[in-house]
Amino acid sequence: MPTKSIDILIIGGGVVGLSLAHALAQRRAGKIVVLERGLPGSGSTGRSAAALLPTQPFPVVAQLYKESLATFSNFGALVGGDCGFVPLPAAILAAEHDLPALQEMVTVYQTSGLDLSLISPDEFAAREPTAVLDGVAAVAYTPDAGYVDPTQVAWSYGGAAQNLGVDIVAGLPDSQVVDILHNGHQVTGVQTAGDTHYKAKVIILATGAWTPYWLRKLGMSAPLSALRHGLGVLKTPDGAVRPHHLIMDRAANFYARPDANTLTLVGGLDQRSYLPIDDLDAEPPTPTTSELATPRYGLNARFPALKGAALTRSWSGWIDTTPDGCPLLGVLPLDGLYLAAGLGGFGLSLAPAIGQALAGMILDDSTAIEQLVQLRYARFDDGMALRASFSFKDML
Ligand SMILES: Cc1cc2nc3c(=O)[nH]c(=O)nc-3n(C[C@H](O)[C@H](O)[C@H](O)COP(=O)(O)OP(=O)(O)OC[C@H]3O[C@@H](n4cnc5c(N)ncnc54)[C@H](O)[C@@H]3O)c2cc1C
Repeated sequence: MPTKSIDILIIGGGVVGLSLAHALAQRRAGKIVVLERGLPGSGSTGRSAAALLPTQPFPVVAQLYKESLATFSNFGALVGGDCGFVPLPAAILAAEHDLPALQEMVTVYQTSGLDLSLISPDEFAAREPTAVLDGVAAVAYTPDAGYVDPTQVAWSYGGAAQNLGVDIVAGLPDSQVVDILHNGHQVTGVQTAGDTHYKAKVIILATGAWTPYWLRKLGMSAPLSALRHGLGVLKTPDGAVRPHHLIMDRAANFYARPDANTLTLVGGLDQRSYLPIDDLDAEPPTPTTSELATPRYGLNARFPALKGAALTRSWSGWIDTTPDGCPLLGVLPLDGLYLAAGLGGFGLSLAPAIGQALAGMILDDSTAIEQLVQLRYARFDDGMALRASFSFKDML
């Protein structure tokens, strides 16, 4: 069995693993290898709607969002390459019963220095005149939002990391980890399907929806669920006006964003839009018509001009989510083993800052350790899951 000795091994070449690899290399953390069994970004990352907007109402998440947005806004200078960032204001629409949750979210993001404010449905109608705002009691509005090209983000992070000396091994038997090795207290390395033994004392699981499998295999609890989520791409009918905001509609249970040309991406926010996975290792199936019914119905009711819009494409991907809806970041109960998972439906929005903060934590930076303490793996066992005072009716 060939053996390679390195300092840090990252399992998973999605946006999280690659932004972390880049952040570690920037800090000259030693010899770093990323093992990605497919192509970089071929997991959830490449299937993402990649909308960047405020989501979870917690200061730690708001701070990660703010830092990530700053990186995406200046990606060429801070990382290198392009991320396809398109700045676009976002609007979070809420019904009467969700007003306390919306207000709390506004307060949390404002306190973190983001320009998120509560406006009335009439004020929003002035900005998005084709919207029919039945059932909407208030709107949280921010210019601090946008979207990116998720594959470009992954490849740009990968390229920038390689330029700093990171070795990215992808699409080979030797890039698929089949075992994580340890001596009972400390990780010692991994074994690949190509039978190579990588010796490393620091290993990071950045394996997205595959993470619960690894935690259980290592005998640890897995406060994570892997779910399937699908979205559709609609072509605006000739002469119709499509929404020109990122829309997170908590009253009608859908999100939408404009894409290139006349396209609009749409996905659901209710429980029916997040389904069990039959086979994690198979290609995620195309969503059925009934799976896309809620978001399409919601979008049509809110933007009647899109009623005749043709579905040009649809796909689904895996997401991994935690009981409190926030990421799991940091140490695991095996020395040298770290976790970066549970990014739910907002991993693109947070990945740049997660890479930086986790790199800092791995290198013993006390500020980073403090920043991520609330997102630690052990919080569920410690009874310290994050809790908002109010939660949205359907919150994923
Ligand atoms: C349909 C959809 C829409 C979304 N929309 C948004 C959105 O609008 N905004 C937003 O911010 N987020 C969105 N997300 C969520 C976002 O895409 C994810 O949170 C993010 O991509 C997670 O990145 P990751 O690196 O953790 O996981 P992944 O991209 O899945 O990367 C994990 C990688 O690990 C690799 N791997 C697994 N096991 C092994 C192994 N044994 N050996 C080697 N490699 C392994 C996999 O091949 C995979 O590439 C969406 C997700 C989906 C599916």
